[in-house]
Amino acid sequence: MNEKVISIAIDGPAAAGKSTVAKLVAKALNYTYIDTGAMYRAVTYAVIKAGLNPENEEESVTVLPGMTIDLLEDGTVLCNGEDVSKVIRTPMVSSKVSYIAAMKPVRLALVDMQRAMSNSKCVVMDGRDIGTYVLPSAQVKIFQIASVECRAKRRYDENLSKGIPTTMEDVIEDVKKRDYIDSHRAFAPLKPAEDSVQLDTSELNIQEVVDAILAIVKEKTGVEA
Ligand code: C5P
Repeated sequence: MNEKVISIAIDGPAAAGKSTVAKLVAKALNYTYIDTGAMYRAVTYAVIKAGLNPENEEESVTVLPGMTIDLLEDGTVLCNGEDVSKVIRTPMVSSKVSYIAAMKPVRLALVDMQRAMSNSKCVVMDGRDIGTYVLPSAQVKIFQIASVECRAKRRYDENLSKGIPTTMEDVIEDVKKRDYIDSHRAFAPLKPAEDSVQLDTSELNIQEVVDAILAIVKEKTGVEA
């Protein structure tokens, strides 16, 4: 166990491979992995399940009071106690999540939870605004990018392996639309923190990205896997 509480922020556009890499980095360092995208997805699912319009803020925010989101160590995501791990990855949720994530009351509620989760322990947190807004004093900030084609191909393959039916065209459209909404919203948009290290993963495999991040962690904090 390290004496210092260290936070590693990994931000970047949709399907840049952040969660796969963040999980492996967390495992290598024995840190807790926090998937903030899963939290926005969980709220989106709760809105859809309640029969509300996820593009309407007034309606959507009514699901927030009393809502619980638990990220279990094995990757299971619970929303109000229900296992939503699989349904939050479906196109039904993916296509609406950026509308929900643009709502300030939703962000404020989830950012509070994210800060509480990382308060007293070492974490690897991935998302869009971790380095800029959620954990501005994170010791390590990575902004992970890859070409749209590369990201769409990775997400398409991932969906196939999980049995989620999609086409390449649909995935490309979803990724582009989410990036546009995420980077143009008024509050805590997707953008690199000024003190982040940009990592283009288009030509790298997963292990190469993990190794590159671990080298940056070592350089910035002295912590070794
Ligand atoms: O990371 P993932 O693709 O699962 O995130 C789903 C969506 O949640 C993103 O497209 C974005 O709209 C939103 N999100 C966000 N801020 C974060 C994490 C995710 O706005 N920190």
